[in-house]
Amino acid sequence: MKIAVFSSKPYDRRYFETYNKDYNYELSFFDTNLNAQTSNLTQDFDVVCVFVNDQLGKEVIKALANNGVKLIALRCAGFNNVDLEAAEQYGIKVTRVPAYSPQAVAEHALALILTLNRKTHKAYNRVKEGNFSLDNLIGFNVYNKTVGVIGTGKIGQAFCKIMLGLGCKVLAYDVTPQGALEEAGVTYVTLEELYKGSDIISLHCPLLPATQHLINDKSIAQMKTQVMIINTSRGGLINTEDVVKNLKDRKVGYLGIDVYEQEENVFFEDKSEQIIEDDTLLKLISFPNVLITSHQAFLTSEALTEISKTVFSNIYEFVNNQSLTNEVKQ
Ligand code: NAD
Repeated sequence: MKIAVFSSKPYDRRYFETYNKDYNYELSFFDTNLNAQTSNLTQDFDVVCVFVNDQLGKEVIKALANNGVKLIALRCAGFNNVDLEAAEQYGIKVTRVPAYSPQAVAEHALALILTLNRKTHKAYNRVKEGNFSLDNLIGFNVYNKTVGVIGTGKIGQAFCKIMLGLGCKVLAYDVTPQGALEEAGVTYVTLEELYKGSDIISLHCPLLPATQHLINDKSIAQMKTQVMIINTSRGGLINTEDVVKNLKDRKVGYLGIDVYEQEENVFFEDKSEQIIEDDTLLKLISFPNVLITSHQAFLTSEALTEISKTVFSNIYEFVNNQSLTNEVKQ
């Protein structure tokens, strides 16, 4: 079984090689993304293993089918970058890793909140330079604040529990509410009520046509002045230009994002010696109350272990004609 692992980083290689010892698949690691320009690299491979910024539109899927690829093994939970209709049309199966560590992402959302609020990133740099002043480092108590959670699936649930543990009031919105969360103390409300009542809003729903640009001028207008918005889900949930405008208008008080709509050609790469062309990203980086991490919320050793194990067991099921536990269908 020949597997092409795209967008691979040294940590992917390390964890994959460790867990491949149980399977002995023939792995080839490509640094590059899989997209229309690179799909010719898939010749003679049975499986492509891809991540969040690989682009598997119809054209790429057609090329994969022509090259003999039979399985797209996503090593992430989201699958918004795969044209599932085209995959079905060309007879290529798609699997994913539905839950590698909800806690990893939920804890990163908390890290964004606490860093933005208590400005530990600024304090760290100041102290390194011998500046022990406390000017402009005032934060707020998270205790007793109202946190709005949009999407209470695996990650949203873990995040709700963390915030309840910190003594917050937690409001939630989901198309399918979870009874167990209500018992734990979460209050499900309408989106409007969530926008109106929350000091901090954290996004944990998938990117779908219904959720694209959920955070925009209109929704922000309903929020509290100085609201903190946290996005560890998918960049497309936020209309970035609208958020930039509202940051400038001092309506949005804090923005913490681990994902960005145009992250594809920037995130995961060292661009420190290059000129960044994306003016919106440059604007965001320039705000003192914006914190950006480069899609790292998943990056814990527990999650990388789970990703490797699940990808290989998905491939094993496929190779052995078993029913696919983690198949994604349209
Ligand atoms: P999940 O499928 O367990 O939960 C998603 C929840 O969103 C479900 O409860 C669903 O009912 C809800 N939902 C669907 N449509 C909605 C809508 N229109 N409005 C509100 N809620 C809606 O998924 P999960 O494992 O919790 O992951 C959530 C998202 O986190 C994924 O879609 C993925 O994009 C993102 N993610 C990011 C990282 C990272 O490293 N930053 C890692 C893993 C996952």
